[in-house]
Amino acid sequence: MTMSTSPAPIGIISALRDELSAVLLRMPPESQQRIANRSFRQCHWHDQQVVAVLSRIGKVAAATTATAMIERYGVRAIVFTGVAGGLGNGVNVGDLVVARSFLQHDLNASPLFARHEVPLYGLTRFRTDTDLSDALASAARQALSEPAGLLSEQAMQDFGLHAPQVHEGLILSGDQFINTAQDSARLLAEVPDALAVEMEGAAVAQVCHDYGVPFAAMRTISDRADDQAHVDFPRFTEQVASHYSAAVLEQLLAHWPQPD
Ligand code: SAH
Repeated sequence: MTMSTSPAPIGIISALRDELSAVLLRMPPESQQRIANRSFRQCHWHDQQVVAVLSRIGKVAAATTATAMIERYGVRAIVFTGVAGGLGNGVNVGDLVVARSFLQHDLNASPLFARHEVPLYGLTRFRTDTDLSDALASAARQALSEPAGLLSEQAMQDFGLHAPQVHEGLILSGDQFINTAQDSARLLAEVPDALAVEMEGAAVAQVCHDYGVPFAAMRTISDRADDQAHVDFPRFTEQVASHYSAAVLEQLLAHWPQPD
């Protein structure tokens, strides 16, 4: 006897409304459920079952979102997209960063625990899933190979996007919008290999670690975490980041890594 068991859905979490809208345009929701004040939408995309939701902003909100998604939908993996401030040298507005690990820059339980160490985990950094992150980085490179096909000429000109790059490495998360050159310099002095800073990723990484759910994350650099960080933020997410996210996720789902 053969039993048809459909595989568990893939979870997509977006930090911003415009990004989620761009994704949902490509995969119209088939059903919607409200859990913990969040709308979880189920859809199909490239033969994959997907559940998509807005994380809301900050570490606690993102942890609640990820936990609800894992508990209610039993997702087989979570992919996160959002925007972030660039910290590392050469990590510029319009570039993409695929996370290989996350660290909470505002966590400090010293002297009981080392600076940045998450108490009782013995870890300062949470790694993302290697295979899924490899696939996400390839999807990002593929999507960026023709940015002109994704973005309007006006948007590319306005934001000075010429040859956007894909970076891979450490992303910092904390409950702070970093918008002074002084704060971003301090973060980089504390964690010299940090590529970017945002407000959710490390929380989702920790929840996924607890549940053993593979996790990958990508951020479009919206600002340099300095005194101009607020400039045109909504327009950037609408005209640039949302298009990148939708295109990268589409590539990823079309080439989803098969388990060995
Ligand atoms: N204008 C938005 C608020 C965005 S808050 C709104 O009204 O909804 C910033 C979001 O972008 C967070 O999700 C955070 O993860 C990310 N982000 C982008 N640049 C950042 C920076 N310089 N510091 C911290 N988070 C940043």
